[in-house]
Amino acid sequence: MAYSYDPQNIFAKILRGEIPNKTVLETEHSLAFHDIRPQAEVHVLVIPKGPYVNFDHFSTEAPVEELVDFHRATAEVCRMLGLQPSAGGTGYRLIFNSGDHGMQEVPHTHVHILAGHPLGAMLVRPS
Ligand code: 5GP
Repeated sequence: MAYSYDPQNIFAKILRGEIPNKTVLETEHSLAFHDIRPQAEVHVLVIPKGPYVNFDHFSTEAPVEELVDFHRATAEVCRMLGLQPSAGGTGYRLIFNSGDHGMQEVPHTHVHILAGHPLGAMLVRPS
């Protein structure tokens, strides 16, 4: 089934400048900004500027320049925030929630960068 992108989703509005954001990094094809409801001391979202619903949509349909830009932008944010283990940083966790079971809330591809303290178990099962 083909994906249908909703241009009224909150991240599309952020990209159009209709809603403010705390930008960390902007590149040709990607935008990184602080999550409005941080779930860790560091909680940054990185989104592609193109209209992709989720990780699957982005990975299968985006041109390679956009994929590389997004990948590098994510790594660059981690570098800018001093999180890279290779540079003495304490590390981070990347999460792509996708679809219903992934509990994706905003239907525009995004990766969560979480860091700042030990993040605990990877997954807590819902009760
Ligand atoms: P998801 O559950 O879709 O993976 O994550 C969506 C994330 O977007 C949530 O962590 C939520 O706090 C964040 N978010 C929702 N609305 C806004 C907004 O208007 N601005 C920002 N900066 N983050 C938002």
